Formats: sequence, C-alpha cells, structure tokens
Amino acid sequence: MAVQADRELFDVIVVGAGISGLHAAQCLVREGLNVCILEGRPRVGGRAWTLRDPSVGFADLGGAYYGEQQTQVIKLAESLGLDFYEVPQNGKAIFCLNGVRKLFEGDVPPLSLISLLDLSNCLQLLDKLSLQVPLHAPWTAPEAEKWDSITLEEFVRKSCWTEAARLLTSLALFAVTIESKHSMLDALFLIHSCGGVRALLASQAPYGMQSMKIKQGSNSISEKMADDLKGNIRFETRVTKLQQMDSEVEIHTEDGITFRAREVLIAFCPLLLKHISFEPSLPMSYKAFADINQKSRAIKTVMYYKRAHWTDHTLKGEFIAVDGLVYYGISDAKCDGSHPAIIGFVDANKYGSMTVTQRRDAIAKFYAEIFRIPEMADPVNYKEKDWGDEDGVELSGICVYTLPPGFITTHRMLWGKAFGRIKFAGAESSAVFRGYMEGGVRAAHRAVAQVLNSLDVEPKDKQPIEEFQEIPYYAFNIVDRLLPSVTQLISIASIGVVLISAVVYRML
Ligand SMILES: Cc1cc2nc3c(=O)[nH]c(=O)nc-3n(C[C@H](O)[C@H](O)[C@H](O)COP(=O)(O)OP(=O)(O)OC[C@H]3O[C@@H](n4cnc5c(N)ncnc54)[C@H](O)[C@@H]3O)c2cc1C
Repeated sequence: MAVQADRELFDVIVVGAGISGLHAAQCLVREGLNVCILEGRPRVGGRAWTLRDPSVGFADLGGAYYGEQQTQVIKLAESLGLDFYEVPQNGKAIFCLNGVRKLFEGDVPPLSLISLLDLSNCLQLLDKLSLQVPLHAPWTAPEAEKWDSITLEEFVRKSCWTEAARLLTSLALFAVTIESKHSMLDALFLIHSCGGVRALLASQAPYGMQSMKIKQGSNSISEKMADDLKGNIRFETRVTKLQQMDSEVEIHTEDGITFRAREVLIAFCPLLLKHISFEPSLPMSYKAFADINQKSRAIKTVMYYKRAHWTDHTLKGEFIAVDGLVYYGISDAKCDGSHPAIIGFVDANKYGSMTVTQRRDAIAKFYAEIFRIPEMADPVNYKEKDWGDEDGVELSGICVYTLPPGFITTHRMLWGKAFGRIKFAGAESSAVFRGYMEGGVRAAHRAVAQVLNSLDVEPKDKQPIEEFQEIPYYAFNIVDRLLPSVTQLISIASIGVVLISAVVYRML
C-alpha cells in the first residue's frame, strides 16, 4: 500500500526506520493495517548502518555483532534470507596496561594472580547482584535505593583491591556502558537484561554477544524489510510535533507537512524526544528520559590492510588497551577473508577534535606499536563514523543509553509505557537486551501489541510477547565460583599464620 496524501488518516504512523520501527511496521502491515513510516534520514537502518563501498565491500559502522541467545533478531534475519557467520577466534589477543603489553588466549587476561582473583570476584559480585534486579520493575530490587545512590565506577573502586582489576573492570564495563555517571542499579539492570557479565563482555561463541556477524552486512536486516515496505516509507521527513486529539494524532514535520493517524509508534532513542514538541505535553517522568545529560561519544573506526598481518604472528586481531588511543579492537575479517581489517573504538570526547586524517594516521601508528608489526602503519583504507556528531543532525541518540544515579528510584518507570495514542518502541524501550538490536526487535513486538490493543484489533499472529521472557544466563563456572576473593585470601592467609604460630608455640 503506497503512502499517498498527507491528509489521509493512517491506522498507524511509525516514526523512525531503524530495525525497531521497520519491524513494528512489518508486523502491523501483516495485521492488515494502513501504515506509514516517517524517517528523518535519506536511508533506513539508523544506528545499524552499513557503509557499502566497492573499495571495502561493506563496513558495519554501527551495530554489527550478535550472540546466539539473541533469538528474536536471529529469527528475523533468517526469515529475510540472511546468514550469520562466527567471528574467527584463532590466535592470541593483546592486553596493554600501564605501558606493559602481554598476550593471552581465551577470556582470561594476563594479570597477576591477586589481580585476577580481584577481577573475577568483582565481576562475579556484579553478576550475582544483577539477578536481584527484576527486569519489569528494577526499583523494587531489595537494595534499589542503595545501588541507585552510587555510580558503577564508585562501586568498582570500592570493591576492587588492586589497581589492575579496577582499571580492567572499568574498561570492560566502560566499553559496554560507556558513561561514567552510570547508576549502579541501572548497570545491574543492564547486566541482567543481557544474560550476565560473561555474555555482555565476551567475543567467544556460544555465549558472547560479539560472536556473530551477518554475511551481507548488519543493515541488510533493515534494508530487506524496507524492500517489502517501500511504498510505506517517506524519507527525509523529520517529525517535529505530535498533537494528540480525541480520536487521532496530528504529526507535523520539519518541512511543514501534517500527517494524521489513529496511533503513532515512536521508534528511536528517547534522548531525541527533546527535538519534538508534544500537545498535550509529555508527563514529567517521560520527559526525564529525554533530558538525561549523556556526554559519551564513540567513534567506530575500521582500518583496512592488504593482508591480515596479525595472523602471521598468531594473533587474532583483538586487543584491550586500557589507556590507549583505541581502547578496544577486534579483527573484522569478512567470512570469505576479503578486506582484512581491524575495528577499533575511540573515545570521541578525547580524540574527536582530530581531523579524520590525523586520527587515521595516529591509529595506524598505534596499531603498528601494539601489534609490533611495522607494516600495520601502512593501511590501504580507513573508514570511520563518529556517532555523536552528524553535522548537527541529531538523529541517532547514543550508542549506549544509560541512566544516572537516582533516576530509576525517582521515576519508577521503564521506557516503553504508552502515552495515550502514542506508543514507544526502539532498542532503549526493551527490558531484555536494552540498547541492542535484539532489544529493538523485542520492543517492536511489545509496541505492536499495545497498538493492536488500542485499536481493538485481534492479532492474527498470536505469538507471546517475549519482552520480559528470561534469557539463558551464562553463569561463571564452578572453578571461578570457588576462587577466593582478595579479602578471603587475606583471611585464609591470616588464619594460616595464626594456626602455624599456635603450632610452633606449642612445640616450643
Ligand atoms: C557504534 C555502535 C556500535 C553498536 N554495536 C552494536 C552491536 O554490536 N550489537 C547490537 O546489537 N547493537 C549495537 N549497537 C546498538 C544498535 O545499533 C541499536 O540498538 C539499534 O540499531 C537501534 O535500533 P532502533 O531502531 O531502536 O533505533 P535507530 O537505529 O536509532 O533508528 C531510529 C531511526 O529514527 C530516525 N529518527 C530519529 N528522530 C526522528 C524524527 N524526529 N523524525 C523522523 N525520524 C527520526 C533516525 O534517523 C533513525 O533512522 C551499536 C550502536 C552503535 C552506534
């Protein structure tokens, strides 16, 4: 059904043609509804953007990785005829801390025994506490007030004894949550939401959320859905105002067009709501989700080489550089081995003022040093995307949306609650895999159910809504769980000293 006149009354207008909005639209069209999608950009896919360029094949410059527990996005991709491949894991990874470089295999970084025990204890503690945070109402967790009064960083600082464990825990979680002013309660929610610390941080199959990629490029999911919905999408149509009336909503766009719909489904990051005016205005608790002051910005970079030089040195291309220009990197080998590259994440708050050429040169030099392969200073191509800076367009929101201390216990609401005829999808509105493409798909299912319910339409597809369905939890193994913490080690050592002293004393 093609989008026709702007005065037509649509059943539903979906705002945002990212994975979440497009999937919601796809489900609503299947239910026989008259749907229109308004997208601010000239393309689909939002933050899961794949650059298609013959010189590099394709580059996933936004959301790119999947894990096997992300069942809904995998099901969606497979239904569109797309294939996944496992990110190769052969070889050693590099770990750099305080100017010292070490190699390691598997998930365990090369720290001293004490630092390792400390790190393992802190991550396991986070894991254990996260299970006490209910995904449908995190403010009801037994220690919600206490956990919401501190940041994740403060918790890590207090829980770790060693500097190495503190730095690595912060970096590992920073790579995922990015924001330093992240409430401990929200961090625990996010850990629970993603199936545990191990799943959140690992690149290894089967549980790692960075273990799989799509052969045709990540944005193929949205591109394929858009092919089916072609007539329903209006590009470069940015929504600026929503006016709710008794029986319909008026949707006003930047270029002065007014659309009408019985229901509106917003499918983008809540931070972008500050660019839309609402009549009647959004309640305070909804506005609070848009007003969060998040400063984190990541630049995703891809450095291409003639050959995968690192494989000659039994390296897999992955590294953690706690204080490096690029804090985390991973090989971006395509499944046929073409266009070998290293993907790297750069903190834009520190290095965003460089020009693209300066950044490329600095990163190439950095790779030559940490890989200890001089040829890596000589890349054949470079692509990057700064997600915090799109020439002032502001249509992305943020890589990882996090809530500051005090937010959850004050507002006692999850993002995704309907506001009259306006419903909210988008990856940030899912309680499970919040902020990930999987979350976007799950949120779409929930928002579609809300719309159908509002319109009094009996769904043809009676699948259960999996938004709160628990996902497999990847617990630490028995050996990890039996390891003593540094405090326990000190206690054991102290008891040992007392016992030995007592025995020696009796013998004298
Ligand atoms: C660098 C980076 C790496 C990531 N890595 C991963 C990963 O490996 N795995 C993973 O699962 N996730 C990852 N993510 C997150 C993932 O990309 C997002 O969760 C997902 O793409 C969000 O989809 P969405 O549809 O909810 O929102 P979006 O993709 O943001 O789509 C929203 C759409 O709404 C449009 N829009 C916004 N405002 C308006 C308006 N006023 N009017 C009209 N249109 C509007 C935007 O242009 C956009 O197209 C990453 C994100 C980034 C940035």
